[in-house]
Amino acid sequence: MGAEQQVRAGFVELYGAEPEGVWAAPGRVNLIGEHTDYNDGFVMPFALPHTATAAVSRRTDGRLRLHSADVEDGVAELRLDDLAPESDRAWTAYPAGVVWALREAGHPVTGADIHLTSTVPSGAGLSSSAALEVVVALALGDLFELGLQRWQLARLCQRAENVYVGAPTGIMDQTASACCEAGHALFLDTRDLSQKQIPFDLAAEGMRLLVVDTQVKHAHSDGEYGKRRAGCEKGAALLGVDALRDIPYADLDAALERLGDEEEVRRLVRHVVTEDQRVERVVSLLKSGETRAIGPVLVEGHASLRDDFRISCPELDLVVDTALAGGALGARMTGGGFGGSAIVLTEAADVDTITKAVEEAFAAAGFTAPRVFEAVPSAGARRLG
Ligand code: ADP
Ligand code: MG
Repeated sequence: MGAEQQVRAGFVELYGAEPEGVWAAPGRVNLIGEHTDYNDGFVMPFALPHTATAAVSRRTDGRLRLHSADVEDGVAELRLDDLAPESDRAWTAYPAGVVWALREAGHPVTGADIHLTSTVPSGAGLSSSAALEVVVALALGDLFELGLQRWQLARLCQRAENVYVGAPTGIMDQTASACCEAGHALFLDTRDLSQKQIPFDLAAEGMRLLVVDTQVKHAHSDGEYGKRRAGCEKGAALLGVDALRDIPYADLDAALERLGDEEEVRRLVRHVVTEDQRVERVVSLLKSGETRAIGPVLVEGHASLRDDFRISCPELDLVVDTALAGGALGARMTGGGFGGSAIVLTEAADVDTITKAVEEAFAAAGFTAPRVFEAVPSAGARRLG
């Protein structure tokens, strides 16, 4: 049974009727542009083949029923009038937050029955949370005929995660899940959400992109994210700009000089400004067909995250070092840091050797075995039936 049929059957079993429709929204991996999205900068994610899939029907009685095939709990039943920011610490906060954000924005959502399942690894830095939000937003937008554009769905989902769930995240994850196209990476300007689809078909050029999920999440990651974010805001304030995005790469040295002995802020600023420039370099290399040349840019990005932004960890560094020693074209950590996943760009012929080398290095270091899979740039959110 395919994903659509499975989630449809699950819905019928739970709620005793066919759903009005089934939708899917993918997780994402970020090719380059890390910790730039809350600095109004550039990012370049692409969608994974892994998706959250939801069967949904409308209700008119102000009730919301939620069920995930991947969680042990039964059906959660909520009243729309009771939805309140940070009132829910369970997984249900993500879909409920979307309903809350839609209603807050004045959209006439009168209730829903939702059953979902997801193949996006959770907590691996691949945005299972955004997949969950976007699939619900797209379904409700369609069913209640809200006429929302994809970027508007992304904004509402970000609001759900920031305000309702209470997790400070930028706009990249939700936009990637809502807007990506198969065979492309999404060049996104997070200031105005303008976007360009950049052809990114590695298989056609004999290459592969591996995702290595380290399966670790170091405990302090949330607090560290907040500290980096606050440090970037401090840097922008000291430099008299709205966001670090406003420091052109050509002015970086002068900006660093102006920051004087603010050593930590200097490192954060240097990462963000050079990272924005790396995104622009990757875009221009891909446009001119020099795909293999993006490898060294990814490696530079990793060094910047490790040494300047200081959010890598031994597991992520080991993936990158081992992959490069094994002949990879490029590799870097991706996502928030302190665990989660790394990406490896490699010739197709080297996939097995590199995978084996990473697995062996993890075993030798006494780390949990990593999960390695190939990431093919896939479609964004869509209705399945
Ligand atoms: P990431 O987005 O990197 O995967 P997050 O911590 O942002 O990590 O989101 C993970 C959370 O999303 C989980 O703790 C859970 O609450 C929710 N979630 C993800 N997938 C599912 C699922 N299939 N069913 C229910 N909840 C899910
Ligand atoms: Mg998330």
